Amino acid sequence: MNADPLELQKFSELAHRWWDPTSEFRPLHEINPLRLEWINARAPLAGKNVIDIGCGGGILSESMARKGATVTGIDLGEKALKVADLHSLESGVQVRYKLIAAEDMAAQEAGQYDVVTCMEMLEHVPDPSAIVRACAALVKPGGQVFFSTLNRNPKAYLFAVIGAEYLLRLLPKGTHDYEKFITPSELSQYIRSAGLEVQGFKGMGYNPLTKIYSLNDDTSVNYLVAARRPL
Ligand code: SAH
Repeated sequence: MNADPLELQKFSELAHRWWDPTSEFRPLHEINPLRLEWINARAPLAGKNVIDIGCGGGILSESMARKGATVTGIDLGEKALKVADLHSLESGVQVRYKLIAAEDMAAQEAGQYDVVTCMEMLEHVPDPSAIVRACAALVKPGGQVFFSTLNRNPKAYLFAVIGAEYLLRLLPKGTHDYEKFITPSELSQYIRSAGLEVQGFKGMGYNPLTKIYSLNDDTSVNYLVAARRPL
């Protein structure tokens, strides 16, 4: 199984606070409108069949459903999925959540999705290239796949680990393991080997003074990438 039990446990322990915007998940709440609009601009979500890989408590999944997409969210964290289900009941925004590995989902529902999203997840799995391949299998020809992760270089270590976990305490210590960060060229390689085309990169920045996140062209720390399955 392409999953690290310690990684899953880390998220499980915090899962009951997933929808508390002041909790450890605050950064996900704050970046969500940015990534949602970025995705929606590239792949208008209304009416689309979407799958969110590593959906956790469903922050992105629900927001895509609110845009009119039919959304499936999958994860291997049982607690997070329970929280996601409860929140969807409460909000009345329907999402189909499933406890299943991306690779198994790809075997069951290959080629069924217009859009595949996999955000802030690849840096938590033992073999990210296998997840990218599963995403490529899930998307329809002509459909789009969106990833986000953390770059691996000294600046990313300083900002994403030392800055975010130790100085600014935006995230609990130990949230991210530097060795598992992925450079844009590595991710491009995984994407192309999976038979997808890279369409573009976007950087995500955080200003500690204003406490505001923004999208920009600096992919040196947190970044997103858009890919497409050729027709
Ligand atoms: N994608 C969501 C959550 C990111 S947190 C968002 O951006 O809002 C990372 C998530 O990845 C957690 O929910 C964790 O349970 C999940 N995860 C970690 N390893 C996984 C694996 N091997 N398979 C599926 N999900 C995994």
